[in-house]
Amino acid sequence: MMDGKLADYLKRTELELGGRPDALGDGHWRYAQDDDGIGWLVLDCENASVNTISGAVLRQLDSHLQQVETALPRALVIRSGKAVGFAAGADIDGLAGMEPEATEALLSEAHGVLDRLQGLSCPTIAIVHGAALGAGFELALACDYRIAVNGASFGLPEVRLGLHPGLGGTVRLPELIDPTAAMEMMLTGSSAHTKKAKKLGIADLVVEERHVVAAIASLLEGGNGKRSRGLMARAFGLASARSLAAERMRRKAQGKAPKEHYPAPYALIDNWVEHGNDTAAMKQAEIASFAHLLQTDTSKNLIRAFFLRRTLKNVSGDVDDIAHVHVVGAGIMGAEIAIWIAMQGKRVTVADPDEAALGAMIRQATKICEDAHKDALETRDTLDRLMPDPTGYGVQRADLVIEAGPEKPEAKAGIFADLGKRMKTGSILATNTSSLRLAQFLDDVPAKTRFAGLHFFNPVSKVPLVEVVSHDKTSKDTRTRLLAFCTAIDRLPVAVSDTPGFLVNRALMPYLLEALLLMDEGVAKEQIDQTALQFGMPMGPVTLADQVGLDICLDVADSLKKSLRTPVANIPEMLREKVEAGDLGRKTGRGFYDWSDGTPKPESRADSNPDLSDRLLLPMLNACAECVRTGVVGSADEADAAMIFATGFAPFRGGPLHYARARGHDEIHQRLQQFSEAHGPRFKPDTYWRND
Ligand code: NAD
Repeated sequence: MMDGKLADYLKRTELELGGRPDALGDGHWRYAQDDDGIGWLVLDCENASVNTISGAVLRQLDSHLQQVETALPRALVIRSGKAVGFAAGADIDGLAGMEPEATEALLSEAHGVLDRLQGLSCPTIAIVHGAALGAGFELALACDYRIAVNGASFGLPEVRLGLHPGLGGTVRLPELIDPTAAMEMMLTGSSAHTKKAKKLGIADLVVEERHVVAAIASLLEGGNGKRSRGLMARAFGLASARSLAAERMRRKAQGKAPKEHYPAPYALIDNWVEHGNDTAAMKQAEIASFAHLLQTDTSKNLIRAFFLRRTLKNVSGDVDDIAHVHVVGAGIMGAEIAIWIAMQGKRVTVADPDEAALGAMIRQATKICEDAHKDALETRDTLDRLMPDPTGYGVQRADLVIEAGPEKPEAKAGIFADLGKRMKTGSILATNTSSLRLAQFLDDVPAKTRFAGLHFFNPVSKVPLVEVVSHDKTSKDTRTRLLAFCTAIDRLPVAVSDTPGFLVNRALMPYLLEALLLMDEGVAKEQIDQTALQFGMPMGPVTLADQVGLDICLDVADSLKKSLRTPVANIPEMLREKVEAGDLGRKTGRGFYDWSDGTPKPESRADSNPDLSDRLLLPMLNACAECVRTGVVGSADEADAAMIFATGFAPFRGGPLHYARARGHDEIHQRLQQFSEAHGPRFKPDTYWRND
């Protein structure tokens, strides 16, 4: 966040330095030397709100470094001129689709620039506010010191794109901090927030923005000159020590990211074991391995997922005009929706006849803020914006009312009728229903054109997707406003139509039901789950059903069965029995699994069974195909994005329809046809496979 002090500071730097005869500004960087002989190099990427490290940024940095080598300042300070943070990482658009030779050439050139920065004879200091990620962090690592402005975070998330750091990060981070901690950061892609960054030794100092200049002075006056590098790495100077540690890392990685799906972590570990005591060799290995990884299907598909995320983020193209949201119902969903929206800076009032639910919401808010690394001030501000409102006073002021009451048509109809009397003109009413059709409420709502669905997923703070549901009468304006609202609250919207299960539940349910039917046939639930995990799903379907809640699964399945024209699997009796017995899954401590300690306890060990994989997954693919063909969702890309960001569908496969394309539509059609003959019409291949 731009703090007023930072804005002042940057303005002052620009005004004072910009007018100096030695001031240089070209494109992405500004350089000037102050009266204390300190050189200030400010990264402020042209025509962008966020800094990214592109070839052009590095080439311009190189020319500035050339000047610095002759100007000989007392020290060089590098910082960002962007309010949002230091730098977000490499310019992915520039990297995607590059041939290996071109990648190697670009990285070698980039390494040369950062080596030049590291080799300057004066001390170098990176001032980091906000996030320094990927190549941005690698730039900061090439400096001798890092001063973190409170709230800063550092991370190398390249594994999420099927890569590892490529600008010297695999060399410099293990040289700076405990190499096992460095490897852990790179293998998981996790960020170190201010306190942790200080503890690990990434940040030398942590200060408030107003103390940055004093902190630089104190670093320099404390006699801190050039930093000697590699001290930490010496602890693992022996190949045998690295091999031993690497074995542990490989085992841990295998559990989360199997090598056959995610090669990058293993390449990183192998490079470290082989070259961890030889900086030059490690840099070469890093470049070669990065260029190779960029060509893998895993990386191409993860980069595709990255682009899909960006597309959804920008989908509305409009300005958000919602300032005050009123949420009806503070149950599992309403509470988290309200907390999330308040955290994103909007005023939220929340009504629920059950006052205990409102109290629980406030307690939950503190916990969610903590998990999101909000400091005390930000948490207080969130709580100030989140207002329990038992009498529904906020309805008259709200620009948007989100209904998250019980999933019962008569309850919702009553709530809508009551809201209709009090909502202000022009405001939007959105329901979070997951299984009811919006069309059935058109006579109950105050304004049909401003009635829509906002289908958030559970848990709201972890699942970024929101389905923005339009029925026949929802106006384009309402839809656009809701899309813009979702983007403003940092969620990913996808527009869908008012059809049974919308897109995500429509596609997910055949997969979940098929898992239960397999159980009915005597296949162990552990084997079913293991098969889905092996395919790359984040959790098995039986565990997922327990997690979602078996009552909710049954509701959605019943509703799909009733309303879809396409054949749906028979709902297994065991699902009804569980619901009738009150074993609803995780929330009651027992479903198909025992969840008494909060995690599912398998009853047996089971290996995956590749023969089951198609039977589980193809019903989901077939449903996605139908949704695209019938216009429930705008395109195959949007369907893929929705399934990745709502269900975690194996992202390294690029989404269900991308995966189908890669296998070939003919093959998918043929497999479905075979299943249809063997198991019934629920597998009937959609015409999409033949026409698309
Ligand atoms: P819930 O039972 O946990 O919460 C419903 C809340 O509504 C309760 O706190 C109840 O006291 C309150 N309520 C009842 N009558 C009310 C009234 N007249 N005015 C205001 N509040 C009232 O249910 P939930 O799981 O949070 O589901 C809410 C909605 O979200 C449902 O439509 C559901 O289909 C949908 N949904 C649920 C999930 C999920 O995983 N739970 C996911 C997506 C969507």
